[in-house]
Amino acid sequence: MQELEERIKKDGIIREGGVLKVGSFLNHQCDVELFDHMGQEWARIFKDKKIDKILTVESSGIGIACVASKSFNSVPVVFAKKTESINLDGESYTANVHSFTHKRNNTVIVTKSLLNPGEHVLIVDDFLANGCALRGLIQICDSAGVVVEGIGIAIEKGFQPGGKDLRAQGYQVASLAIIEDMDAETGDITFGKCALCSE
Ligand code: 5GP
Repeated sequence: MQELEERIKKDGIIREGGVLKVGSFLNHQCDVELFDHMGQEWARIFKDKKIDKILTVESSGIGIACVASKSFNSVPVVFAKKTESINLDGESYTANVHSFTHKRNNTVIVTKSLLNPGEHVLIVDDFLANGCALRGLIQICDSAGVVVEGIGIAIEKGFQPGGKDLRAQGYQVASLAIIEDMDAETGDITFGKCALCSE
């Protein structure tokens, strides 16, 4: 998606260790118009799929998923929580996820009553790197008996294996910007092409 690629080039900050900072429009400050355009693109890509719910994980996925929901008939957005909370009601589905950015393991949790067997789910997240966060969400979907119709990602780092692994497993992964290479010294970023995207 050209608009997202241009924004990454303009405002993204490349850190050592393969980390891209996009706090000014995606992870800290939210560009709602951009999120809206991202949602429209996912809706175009997954137009033939039945989507009952969008599933994401706190915290950066929440804003993106909520705005994207407007392009999916305002379906409910469920977000996996990263810590136990006394507000969680009843039994929960859990999965262990290794955090790429924080270098620690989190348990992600979804209350069982929010995912009903047979529902069709679109998973949305901000980044795809090694795929640990998505594998945790997929594990929760499998436990709940819901169908993963597709995966919408804002930024995939194509030089890490998550996207290739998930596609090899048969998941439809729509990453709106795929970074094949980025150089912290020069600031150069090379984008790849998402087979499902229009531009
Ligand atoms: P994965 O689980 O696929 O290895 O990493 C995905 C998660 O780690 C995303 O939910 C995102 O929060 C975080 N993440 C991974 N790489 C980056 C990065 O380069 N920049 C930012 N801002 N977050 C990242």
